[in-house]
Amino acid sequence: MPAMVRQMFSFRLKRLALAAVALAPTLASAEQVNIELFDGQRAMALIAEQLRFTPRSLDAPGHQQTIDFIKAELAKAGVNNVSLQRWAYRGVDRKSYAMTNIVARLEVSNPRRMILATHYDSIVRAYADKTNPNGPMPGANNSASGVAVLLETARVLSLLPKPAVGIDMIFFDGEEGSKSLGAGDPQWHALGSPYFTAHLKDFYPNAKPEKAVVFDMVCDRDLKLKPEPSSVTSALAEVQKFWRAGAEIAPSAFDPQITTYPISDDHTALAAIGIPSFLVIDFEYEPYFNTTQDTTDKCAAESLQAVGRATLQYLYLP
Ligand SMILES: [Zn+2]
Repeated sequence: MPAMVRQMFSFRLKRLALAAVALAPTLASAEQVNIELFDGQRAMALIAEQLRFTPRSLDAPGHQQTIDFIKAELAKAGVNNVSLQRWAYRGVDRKSYAMTNIVARLEVSNPRRMILATHYDSIVRAYADKTNPNGPMPGANNSASGVAVLLETARVLSLLPKPAVGIDMIFFDGEEGSKSLGAGDPQWHALGSPYFTAHLKDFYPNAKPEKAVVFDMVCDRDLKLKPEPSSVTSALAEVQKFWRAGAEIAPSAFDPQITTYPISDDHTALAAIGIPSFLVIDFEYEPYFNTTQDTTDKCAAESLQAVGRATLQYLYLP
């Protein structure tokens, strides 16, 4: 999805908005890392490859093909510590769905940990499509773009000095909810990230990860990323740091103006257990959002590159 909850613009949000806008004009320190190694064209190709597996929703053959693809790309980037967190989810139709979160750990010897995450499942059908609401969901932006950013980031990180905090990349399953709930269902809730947080000690027996960044819908040709209110509540300082890095790299894509509505996504479950977590999303994607028109031509290599390079810069900021 993710789901959007339009709410009255409360005084509290206004206060947070002012805080988010107060960004320092320049980076605190320039790190000697070549963030330009992140290649937007490579990321675009990673989107195109995922779309070959469409539909990639739960139970579709393309779902497993996407898992295999992510594992293969991680292996190419030299990421060998990859776990599959598997479980069965029983839908309201009583059917059992095979679920898989993919957890890739970089620099496992580093006791300090942080999460970079996205979801790889796509919605079961293009329900918002006026002419073909039962059509398969290509999901170039929602969901292949987040996967592409993570995989290209993994490749680049293998070429760079190690960041101070060890990174766990998580490719969540079931962000779009279960097939049985139906696309666009108001009862929607993410499945993979709540399962992960309920079993957090499987991966973090001693201490929670220090923070988490979640990417979703980040390839729009006209990319405008705005801080999201629940992210600002959970991780204000990190949001400021990320947007500051982004504004240095691609000023037009990083708008410090906070969105007027909260958005539920995989950061929601992470924030709920006290991990400072924020969402990087451009939710203004009409008229293509969850339609058969969410295809690669709506994406731009420049947009992916802006997000990827901002992420790399952010990872190396103190
Ligand atoms: Zn999504």
